[in-house]
Amino acid sequence: MAEGAASPDLMARYLESQLDFIFFFYGLAFMLLGALCLAFARRLDDDHRPLIRLTGLFGCVHGASEWLDMSALLAGDASEFLLARGVLMTASFVLLAEAGRQGLQSRGLPVPGPWIFIPLLLVIVAVGVLDGVWSAKAVARYLLAAPGAIAVGFALYSLRADYPVSGRWLMVAVAAGFIGYGLAAGVIVAPAPFWPADIVNQESFQRLTGVPIQLVRGLLAVMLAALAWTAWGRRVMQTLDYPGYSRHLKRQFIGVLTSLLGVLLLGWVLTNYLGEIHRQDTESEVAGDAVLLVGSVEREIAIADALVKVLANSPSVQPLLGKGRSGGPEAMRELLDLEVGALRPVRASIVDRAGNVVLSSNSAAKGWLGQSNLSAVGWFVQAIEGRAAREFRIDAPERLRTYLTAYPIHSAEDTIEGVAVLEVSLEGLAAAMTRFDQAFFVVDRNGVVIITNRSDEFLRTLWPRPDLPPLRLAEQLSEPQRPTMLPREVFGGGWMDFGGRRSYVLRQRIADTQASLVVAAPVRGIMASRLLGIFITLQVAIAVLFYFFGLDSGVRDRLQRQLHEELQLRSRDLARQAATDALTGLFNRMTFNERLDSELARSERSGQVFSLIIFDIDYFKEVNDVYGHPMGDQVLIRLSQTVAASVRRSDLLVRWGGEEFALLLADTDAQAAYETAKKLRLLVSHTIFDQVGTVTASFGVAQVLPGDNAETLVARADNALYRAKLNGRNRVELSLSVVDPLELSPTL
Ligand code: GH3
Ligand code: MG
Ligand code: MG
Repeated sequence: MAEGAASPDLMARYLESQLDFIFFFYGLAFMLLGALCLAFARRLDDDHRPLIRLTGLFGCVHGASEWLDMSALLAGDASEFLLARGVLMTASFVLLAEAGRQGLQSRGLPVPGPWIFIPLLLVIVAVGVLDGVWSAKAVARYLLAAPGAIAVGFALYSLRADYPVSGRWLMVAVAAGFIGYGLAAGVIVAPAPFWPADIVNQESFQRLTGVPIQLVRGLLAVMLAALAWTAWGRRVMQTLDYPGYSRHLKRQFIGVLTSLLGVLLLGWVLTNYLGEIHRQDTESEVAGDAVLLVGSVEREIAIADALVKVLANSPSVQPLLGKGRSGGPEAMRELLDLEVGALRPVRASIVDRAGNVVLSSNSAAKGWLGQSNLSAVGWFVQAIEGRAAREFRIDAPERLRTYLTAYPIHSAEDTIEGVAVLEVSLEGLAAAMTRFDQAFFVVDRNGVVIITNRSDEFLRTLWPRPDLPPLRLAEQLSEPQRPTMLPREVFGGGWMDFGGRRSYVLRQRIADTQASLVVAAPVRGIMASRLLGIFITLQVAIAVLFYFFGLDSGVRDRLQRQLHEELQLRSRDLARQAATDALTGLFNRMTFNERLDSELARSERSGQVFSLIIFDIDYFKEVNDVYGHPMGDQVLIRLSQTVAASVRRSDLLVRWGGEEFALLLADTDAQAAYETAKKLRLLVSHTIFDQVGTVTASFGVAQVLPGDNAETLVARADNALYRAKLNGRNRVELSLSVVDPLELSPTL
């Protein structure tokens, strides 16, 4: 049971000692989230962009403010620095709230305009002026962080329908994460003296769970980054429509997550290791100091203890308590002074069983604290019962520090006859001890400082003791109530906040008194070496992230290039399809028309002639009828290939339509074209087609003439072809003039 209760406390203390790394992790997680949002914002659609860009800015600024908190923890704080951090944190929350505001607005919800931030900021500033930065930060969390994060959550939730089905639950999880963050950052605030910050706050959260809220927020940020990455990655993939990218993204996601986790864990170990070296140094140094200091106090009081014992056992003391007292009081006092003279006590007294002071070395102080009878005083009661009593005392109002030791006086029959009591001044010791430079505090059992080398802290209470009545001593000395140096009573050694600074604090009992010594060592050295660990971790984390983001952009670039090439190929393919004939693969009439136009223009410019041959297979209908249409197709294909192979590269052979072809001959006059046509006629008639055997074709030839346009040239070639058909087919006819007589009377 006792152990079960101790372990969460141990855990809390461990996490407290890791607070710097937790802040580091927290800041890193938010910057990661921020960078991710900014990277994705460009790629996402207009609905998302402002919301996610602002969320990204929030992440970066907030992460930076967390790192500043970490540096305050490491290097010490100052009020200006605290204020600057408060301003930065508030600025980050304004970004978050603006993201939420715009997110909801773009979903058509009625939200106030950006003017809303003016009254909110005024309230925060007013609280800051009236109640300090801590309270203002708490209010900023209530007014900006909580509603902002929750609004971002709702806006993202309402965007889920845009996502592929598999990405929807991720968006729901991202939305839930933001709402969770809204609660963790906007409701669980730093303790502040107003409701509900006085009840629900970071301290109560840590007491209840044993976990610092910063760790929870950091984990939430990491979770959010991971989920948002997956969800938005899918969205981007959806728009890119490239399956290879999703596989890459998945690998990338797992890679980043595991390696970052590894880096952070190793970084934690490294940071601890580096801090540990210094920690052990500091701890052993402090332990050495404590031994030294406790030793000097113990030596001082041991002398008093020994002397009071000697006094109690002195044969000259016995008679004082007996019935037959010998000698006058003066003689007896001299005797007593002689006994304890060496120590120069504040006073030495012999008290009888009834509590009456029989003899006192100091004639000025007749009684003890003005009491002539001591039967009710604690130390007397203890001593008369047979136990030695020891006490550190401070006599008001001179604030004289003394050590009192009382010892029972035994009779010859071994009954307790009275008490010998000695009170020695500690002022000499205290003065000697102040030369020690490490801060130390000799405290009584309530934690009130009796001796210290920090004069400010004299009589201050080191730790709160809610179980004890208000400290009598402090009240008695009208010491104004100040906050305690330590957050709680310390037993043994521990790392904690000491007077606002992280310190190693060691407490050691002084002999068997109720007092103890507390030594507090500043921990800058340890923090510096821990900082080194954190810095190395950061470097490695950045390297890992750069590697993965580089990988990602490489993949995305390759993908983009690939998509671009595919698109180019497809468009080239389309252009080719548009320019060629599907059956024969020859160029089609569209290409022919373009080329004819450019040849005409060229010829007009330079006077260079060119010619056109149009030819048509004879009785092709019969080929189809006898051998079937597919066989006819084969003839068309074969004939196209044969003719194409025999023409010059500068000539353009096209399928004019059906079983009709055209051949545009650059730099060719009518005579040469006529010869080419005759060659082609022979070529066609000698080509043997599978099953079909041979076919013939008729050719019409025309040369471009001044004043020709596309129609007139084609019409003359066409008419020449018509004439070839008319004159018996399988022949070549040349159009000789601009106006072919046949053109006027094609029926001839
Ligand atoms: P002519 O000597 O007068 O040119 O006689 P013809 O039968 O070749 O003349 P016509 O122009 O009347 O017939 C052309 C035939 O060509 C009709 C059509 O079935 C055939 N044809 C047109 N295009 C194709 C095609 O792509 N594939 C096949 N197999 N036949 C085609
Ligand atoms: Mg024909
Ligand atoms: Mg025809």
